[in-house]
Amino acid sequence: MIPLAEAQSFVLAACPPAEPVEVSFTEAFGLVLAADVIATETVPPFDNTAVDGYAVRAADVVDASTTPVRLEVVGEIAAGAGPGERILGAGEAIRIMTGAPIPPGADAVVMVEDTERIGDDAVLVSASVDPGSSVRPAGDDVVPGDVLFTAGALVTPAVLGVLATVNARVVSVHPKVSVAVLSTGDELVDDGRPLAPGEIRESNRRMLAAALSAAGCAVTDLGIVRDDEDELERVLRDAAASHDAVVTSGGVSMGDYDVVKAVLGRIAEMRWMQVAIKPAKPLAFGLLGGTPVFGLPGNPVSSLVSFEMFARPALRRMMGHQRLARPSVVAVADADLVRRPDGKTHLMRVTAFFGDDGRCHVAPVRAQGSHQLAATSTADAIAVVPDGDGVPAGADVAALLLLS
Ligand code: AMP
Ligand code: MG
Repeated sequence: MIPLAEAQSFVLAACPPAEPVEVSFTEAFGLVLAADVIATETVPPFDNTAVDGYAVRAADVVDASTTPVRLEVVGEIAAGAGPGERILGAGEAIRIMTGAPIPPGADAVVMVEDTERIGDDAVLVSASVDPGSSVRPAGDDVVPGDVLFTAGALVTPAVLGVLATVNARVVSVHPKVSVAVLSTGDELVDDGRPLAPGEIRESNRRMLAAALSAAGCAVTDLGIVRDDEDELERVLRDAAASHDAVVTSGGVSMGDYDVVKAVLGRIAEMRWMQVAIKPAKPLAFGLLGGTPVFGLPGNPVSSLVSFEMFARPALRRMMGHQRLARPSVVAVADADLVRRPDGKTHLMRVTAFFGDDGRCHVAPVRAQGSHQLAATSTADAIAVVPDGDGVPAGADVAALLLLS
């Protein structure tokens, strides 16, 4: 058996980041930037008001808090209008709306709550303001030359907003990775009909397709491929030729009908690994015509855990992500995490929650069998239980949070 970290490094090394492409910023959400984004515009582009109120000369209203000051209203500026030519004179005010440009001559804004309008032509100001008060200066957020994002940054909703703000209309990103997914097994049924003796319902491919989408990949579902070597060879060759990666489930262990093993062993450069983990010990990984192929085990929980530990980090690397693994915390075991020594790291599925002590706590889901997907589906973390006699309640254990 090989250690988990070694198997992970082996897989990652064969999955380098994909070549960057230029896309419209509108397409960039969820992708990773492949080049720095340098601002070429000023944000805000002009001095403007943060509040609805009156643009004034601060010097005119110095004593307004004690003795309200009457100013002549000489104009109005809405958001979207220009600042006008008129230079605000002594004793004058201009009605102004949030986001509108500060007119020349004015140096502060009194908010409307601190004023009382007197007819059409005058306003009574009852608060003093410092110069610059409620003024958002040009360049207060961004100035040309600012390095807004560096290569490797994820385009989040806020990043997308900034790209729009600074008019970065085309950005260089690592593209989505296209992944074909298929399951193998003559026992599998997915068309809703009653099961014949020996048949089971297919689950892995649906699960893996969803996990791939959640990881940001573009997924092609190739369905169930029968345990037939010729058919499987044809499907695998087509899939590898037209996708960035291929994920298969089933047929990689020691059974007589483990056709994935037979076919990939013949047509691809594969490494057959026995990883020192439970579940998901068998892993087939290699390149078919240069395309990474992940041969995940058929037991549903093993399939999911194998995806989490090997495929997801590798696909994230291909998409340019800097952080490949799930966020890891040191959690408190809320119940015994029971196991026996067997030379493997146990990846126990657990629920995670925050305790009154402010720490993350974990408790095992109701069953840990590699066929018990229903139990695993209630997990929101994977506890990494080292070889030995398990982790007693109250002790610390590392946990991978299945968040993002
Ligand atoms: P295999 O890896 O093909 O030997 O399969 C191991 C176990 O997982 C067997 O019990 C299979 O019936 C089951 N299995 C394999 N593929 C799937 C699948 N796509 N959906 C649900 N169960 C599966
Ligand atoms: Mg099988």
